[in-house]
Amino acid sequence: MAFYVQKYGGTSVGSTERIKNVARRVAKFHAQGHQIVVVVSAMSGETNRLIALAKEVQTHPDPRELDMMISTGEQVSIALLSMALMELNVKAKSYTGAQVKILTDNSYTRARILDIDKNKISIDLNAGYVVVVAGFQGIDGTDSITTLGRGGSDTTGVALAAALRADECQIYTDVDGIYTTDPRVVPEAKRLRTITFEEMLEMASLGSKVLQLRSVEFAGKYKVKLRVLSSFEDEGEGTLITYEENGDMEQAVISGIAFSRDEAKITVLGVPDHPGIAYQILGPVADANIDVDMIIQNVGFDGLTDFSFTVHRGEFANTMNILREKIQPHIGARDVVGGDRIAKVSVVGVGMRSHAGIASKMFRVLAEEGINIQMIGTSEIKVSVVVDEKYMELAVRVLHKAFDLDQIL
Ligand code: ASP
Ligand code: MG
Repeated sequence: MAFYVQKYGGTSVGSTERIKNVARRVAKFHAQGHQIVVVVSAMSGETNRLIALAKEVQTHPDPRELDMMISTGEQVSIALLSMALMELNVKAKSYTGAQVKILTDNSYTRARILDIDKNKISIDLNAGYVVVVAGFQGIDGTDSITTLGRGGSDTTGVALAAALRADECQIYTDVDGIYTTDPRVVPEAKRLRTITFEEMLEMASLGSKVLQLRSVEFAGKYKVKLRVLSSFEDEGEGTLITYEENGDMEQAVISGIAFSRDEAKITVLGVPDHPGIAYQILGPVADANIDVDMIIQNVGFDGLTDFSFTVHRGEFANTMNILREKIQPHIGARDVVGGDRIAKVSVVGVGMRSHAGIASKMFRVLAEEGINIQMIGTSEIKVSVVVDEKYMELAVRVLHKAFDLDQIL
């Protein structure tokens, strides 16, 4: 007998028919004697619908009230799933985040979990209930409802698994695991049987949207056994996220190709090359809560240098304004230029630690296709390049092939 936290995403509960399917799956596990806590998202499209509704009334919805409202999507799902379970003669009980008492900070719309009260859930589990918890939400120290950021139900699942010491946190979604890359771009993409936590973290931060990034961080911190599976298939072991590199010699050096279109590039031209300049440029950007990703500073010449970095595409205009108005006149830079038609393509793999030449192979493959590399960034287990958006899919395809990712078993 095992104890699982199972999380079902929006598409998996997208209709009452699908909710009944989820109930059947949960009932099957329950009948096998396992203890189950289920975390569900809002029915697909519901959170977007609620946000749009709010914006009809208030241009920039008040964050506290927005959370009050968008948390209701999940409340509908938990009740429907509990009813569906009861129809199958399974004892079930639902709780909102606030009822469980998933305590968060008060950063509305992107709150962080601080503590989880295990009491109610433990009692119910011991009494034979399937406990159904609303994902994506909690309550702050002043009893206001909070939400955890888009995709936050993943984090609820992982956090509950950590707090309750579940044997495994199973994320049921509309794909049957983590793939070497997005199969919509590369049809030959293969499902990975395992991926290390660090690789998963890179893939998630690089734009592979299967799991909310924060849930992966949480799983790493608390060593939660995490598995991604399809809610539409009865068989299949999905992808297990592991913590140590298995000494498997057959393991590919590269595990995946990640990509993201949501990028923009900004260059500050002709900045004085002296101490403090990086801080003077990026300080105000950070103060505006804008995340900076890749950063490049050229070798100075004649006391001047160029300074480039990337930001999320949605922050492009804002960042350009800050640079032109607050920074350029202040530091005497010649010009600020930028573009938001770029994309980032990355190869990811823990095998890079023990294999040389991954970056040069990547650059050669792109060169052979005539794809110009605009920026390069690396970490211990990834190499990222910025390319013109229109070459992104081509880059992903040729790299996937060159690194033999279509050959993975
Ligand atoms: N319903 C929320 C969203 O759409 C949370 C989630 O689905 O994980 O972002
Ligand atoms: Mg999701």
